[in-house]
Amino acid sequence: MKILFCASEVYPFAKTGGLADVAGSLPAALSRLGDEVLVMTPKYRGTQGESAELAPGVQVRFIENEAYFNRSGLYGNDQGDYPDNLKRFSFFCHEALRICEEMRFQPDILHAHDWQAALMPVILKTRLVKDRFFAKTRSVLTIHNLAYQGHFPAKQFADTGLDESLFKLDGFEFYGKINVLKAGILYADALSTVSSTYAKEIKTAQYGFGLDGVIRAKKKNVRGILNGLDCDLWDPERDPKIQKNYSAKDMTGKRECKTALQSLCRFEADEKKPVFTMITRLAEQKGLDLFTEIADEFLSMEAQFVLLGEGDRVYHTAFKNIAARHPKNAAVFLGFNAENAHGLYAGADFFLMPSYFEPCGLGQMIAMRYGTVPVVRRTGGLADTVTDAGSARANGFSFNPCTGSALLKAMKKAMQCFRDPVKMAALRKQGMALDLSWDKSANEYLGFYGQVKRS
Ligand code: ADP
Repeated sequence: MKILFCASEVYPFAKTGGLADVAGSLPAALSRLGDEVLVMTPKYRGTQGESAELAPGVQVRFIENEAYFNRSGLYGNDQGDYPDNLKRFSFFCHEALRICEEMRFQPDILHAHDWQAALMPVILKTRLVKDRFFAKTRSVLTIHNLAYQGHFPAKQFADTGLDESLFKLDGFEFYGKINVLKAGILYADALSTVSSTYAKEIKTAQYGFGLDGVIRAKKKNVRGILNGLDCDLWDPERDPKIQKNYSAKDMTGKRECKTALQSLCRFEADEKKPVFTMITRLAEQKGLDLFTEIADEFLSMEAQFVLLGEGDRVYHTAFKNIAARHPKNAAVFLGFNAENAHGLYAGADFFLMPSYFEPCGLGQMIAMRYGTVPVVRRTGGLADTVTDAGSARANGFSFNPCTGSALLKAMKKAMQCFRDPVKMAALRKQGMALDLSWDKSANEYLGFYGQVKRS
């Protein structure tokens, strides 16, 4: 099958979040299964040339426009989102389809990701509906996070490059504004998201961000396919960025990683104290207020805590204050630091992710690869990957409801388990034994594409 794969960020060329990881590794996994994949993404500042290869035979074609994409940020700067984002990403969508035709790459499936590429299924069904080149192309739209929809003032509609008549209730219109993702959902032949639980959640008012009705009205089901991990990058056996390599068979190296982390944080190097870590965007979604609410009580116990995070200033301040109040057992590193993240995943005993919502979540999966036990809110991809202690296949702790006291209760259970080395080793082992590779998910996508093609 021929797949045209379009995303606004592709690792290693540009990254702000999990979408880049997916777009950087899924195409290669699909190609290994025999698909022909062409990836298209904007050419941002720092990217060289017209195209590159993600893997042998997997071409990335950069969509170029100096004025739109040669900027310091992908979507905005310190002042917020760029005001012309609708123009920028509409250009990306039209231009990607034009170049696809110019390259004579006739896709069976157009796979568009998130609102920045969501205009593409709409273009196929409207402006290009009579274009014979795309007559057999079916479209799939994947939602990586429903909180980001591409809302714009109605007066900008001309920037979409589409006919004004599409600004209607069963089109782009959403409470008097433009909603690009909504139009994509309505016009795509099929929808998917990044975990089965999130696929169900987005049909409810609690998680739907106003689009749950639109999603429910779609006749076909939303498919949930869990993201995979780049298991070469995240591998405790070979990772050059950690103090000492280790594996499920021989975990002794993990102890050295813990000592190194405790020393980095200026904590007492005490093996008996559990180290909890958080590596995250500092955004409301991540349930950080649950932690800040219980931090003082938690840090009065025999435990250590280290955060690596970047994002909203309010959280920068809140976490700096926590570290100042508990210098002996709380350390806070503010900033995005891909190198340091490895040492934290490897050195910690527990990984916290108390998210309000989490479409898939990579952090808990990476943690499990490193034998670090996740403590998570039971939602979205966290519910699909973390099995709570108690069951035979337990690999972590999950809690509900989304409150500080429920989080604290789960953390106390984790600490209790930590005092029982046999139980703790069993949890670590289960996590490390999971198959989190892309190959499994790529196979599911392949089956899904086949269904969409036949429908
Ligand atoms: P999201 O896509 O919502 O940010 P995910 O858990 O899916 O959340 O992916 C987050 C990815 O970004 C993980 O690979 C995580 O290790 C990494 N990450 C998040 N914050 C930081 C940070 N401050 N420094 C380094 N890596 C980070």
